[in-house]
Amino acid sequence: MIARKGVSVLGSTGSIGRSTLDVIARHPDRFKVTALTARSQWKLLLEQAIDHRPELVVLVEPANAPELQQGLRAAGLSTELMTGAEALETAATLASADCVMAAIVGAAGLASTLAAAHAGRRVLLANKEALVMSGPLLLDAVRASGAELLPIDSEHNAIFQCLPPIRPGVAAPGVRRLWLTASGGPFLRLPASEFPQVTPESAVAHPRWRMGQKISVDSATLMNKGLELIEAQLLFGMSPGTVEVVVHPESIVHSLVEYTDGSTLAQLGNPDMRTPIAHALGWPDRLESGVQSLDMLALGSLRFEAPDRDKFRCLVLAEAAGRVGGTAPAILNAANEVAVEAFLERRLNFDGIPMVIDHVLSQIATEAVTGLADVLAADGAARRAAAALIAG
Ligand code: NAD
Ligand code: MG
Repeated sequence: MIARKGVSVLGSTGSIGRSTLDVIARHPDRFKVTALTARSQWKLLLEQAIDHRPELVVLVEPANAPELQQGLRAAGLSTELMTGAEALETAATLASADCVMAAIVGAAGLASTLAAAHAGRRVLLANKEALVMSGPLLLDAVRASGAELLPIDSEHNAIFQCLPPIRPGVAAPGVRRLWLTASGGPFLRLPASEFPQVTPESAVAHPRWRMGQKISVDSATLMNKGLELIEAQLLFGMSPGTVEVVVHPESIVHSLVEYTDGSTLAQLGNPDMRTPIAHALGWPDRLESGVQSLDMLALGSLRFEAPDRDKFRCLVLAEAAGRVGGTAPAILNAANEVAVEAFLERRLNFDGIPMVIDHVLSQIATEAVTGLADVLAADGAARRAAAALIAG
């Protein structure tokens, strides 16, 4: 019998967090949950704690901590409860946590993702914003500690599966280009003239994937693909211009690797995040994930088309930030986070999102990244500039 691996799930109440617990529950002989964390959804966190009996739960916002504590005791659990953002790093570095699922959304996940990397754990990276912001710093931490970095983003997980074994951030030999597929989001066919009227409800109703609100809006603007382009450059050591975006509305081909000999390898599957999650949890073994087999005959045909860069300006802005490097991706990411939040709260129109990001990128000078302080300074300055612009 093999020893069970401990898994800390950061952001366990979110879409990726819940899918992770679904996969883990299928393999009680292989995995045990060591920590669960949430921002404020204490009732779901309590249910998850009762099902998975972790050592630690973290509720970042302390308001409902007394109810959660009472619920844990009533269920006869000795689970420790911590509150506050710093406790996320404790969850990420528990001695018993072999794997850390980094599934917090946005910059809020940066510190805990970095902590897991510094501690030499297997980091399952869903929180793409952390990598986009900190870039080489996260990769350096992984290399220095001997951590593993396995991509959960379906495109990057697909590429990882199509590459020979590689070290994070180092290009695999013989690769000419990476092809990132994009569903195109809910507004693939909507004329740009109708973008000002787009509501948060229609933007989060993604045609293929069920995801958290922020990434759903990012998918609608194609900023998600822009962030993923930067993520792919960093993870796979690719230079700007060697990662292409192709719209594939069926979301069956999750991405492709083109080699110099003319071979192109792709990974296919139903759009269900339990596949990349199971892949990364089990790697190099394959685990049952609960995902249905792909029915090729029912699919019939698959389509591929070029993205419309005149319509989806966020993609163009991200491509530019990825070329510039340094703190530009952190500035792009921060302005986007502030703009998306304002859109969801109806303080900014949908077409205002790229306008805000463009303005912030032109207002704040890009610097080289020599340490975390550079990243945090760029992030803070971009947030202030974006907020001021939106407040008008
Ligand atoms: P979600 O909104 O469903 O869940 C976010 C989780 O993060 C929740 O558990 C929430 O409590 C926690 N959280 C939010 N703000 C926090 C804060 N300030 N401090 C601590 N915890 C906080 O998001 P999601 O869709 O699960 O996405 C999570 C990450 O995975 C994102 O970075 C996203 O880009 C990435 N991702 C998601 C999918 C998907 O299918 N959902 C696919 C690829 C990548
Ligand atoms: Mg993705």
